[in-house]
Amino acid sequence: MRVDNAAGLLVFTDLDGSLLDHHSYSHQAALPQLRRLEQLGVPVIPVSSKTRQEIEALRRQLGNTEPFIAENGAAAFIPQGYFAQQPAGTVLRDGYWVREWAAERDVWLGVLTSLEDEFAGEYETFSAVGVEGVMALTGLDRAAAELANRRDYSEQVRWLGERARKAVFVEALQGNGASVTQGGRFLSVSGNCSKGDALCWLREVYQAAWQECTVCDLAIGDSANDIDMLEVAHTCLLIRSPAHELPRLQRQDGILLSTVPGPAGWAEGVDRWLQNHQEKLA
Ligand SMILES: [Mg+2]
Repeated sequence: MRVDNAAGLLVFTDLDGSLLDHHSYSHQAALPQLRRLEQLGVPVIPVSSKTRQEIEALRRQLGNTEPFIAENGAAAFIPQGYFAQQPAGTVLRDGYWVREWAAERDVWLGVLTSLEDEFAGEYETFSAVGVEGVMALTGLDRAAAELANRRDYSEQVRWLGERARKAVFVEALQGNGASVTQGGRFLSVSGNCSKGDALCWLREVYQAAWQECTVCDLAIGDSANDIDMLEVAHTCLLIRSPAHELPRLQRQDGILLSTVPGPAGWAEGVDRWLQNHQEKLA
């Protein structure tokens, strides 16, 4: 069981392009600040488009034992026993208390299958191309491609057709109850879930557990699929990307901006955030 965090501080972080370098996937530059947060007892909670098993592999590398949010907010995984009580709305599965916001992958595969005739030859799915196909599409090695293909709540789709037809395709998916997110290379087809909604739910769970203090969170991200969690956190840290523009936010305050991309920018921003909360850590 976890002891109460006296400061009430929480960090929610995107992985690719934020904690991990966009090109090398290294987190090396963030390591000193990760260790500092660990010493202070501030949980670092991964929030990613990655699958549960991809995030688990990364958590092992980082020595991270905190809850995490997978597949763009489709589900939150809290290690069983992490809080004194099992949070409402969760189910126990494989050693986690799991809160789900999206239907399982088969539902979205069914929707995609129902559009097969109308969009014949215009798209391909991870499920259809298999591990070999995922390796070819992503450049991942076999082990990593297998983890990327073990999706629980969403399907990755590569659009092959004309750009104008893609909008028709997305509309057809939405008409069948799917939510479609454009990632760097693939369309992600899932239910109506978001990183922001998942963050808000998990924050409430922490607040209920940490009655001695007021939770104060930082959300860290670099791209469009991070916007909703960057908007709802008390403070957000925007990480510069070598690949694309900074996401545009509606909020005017509580924004930290990295001067350098990736994990170096992550470390820089976390350092500034901790400085701003020194009174809580004294
Ligand atoms: Mg990212």
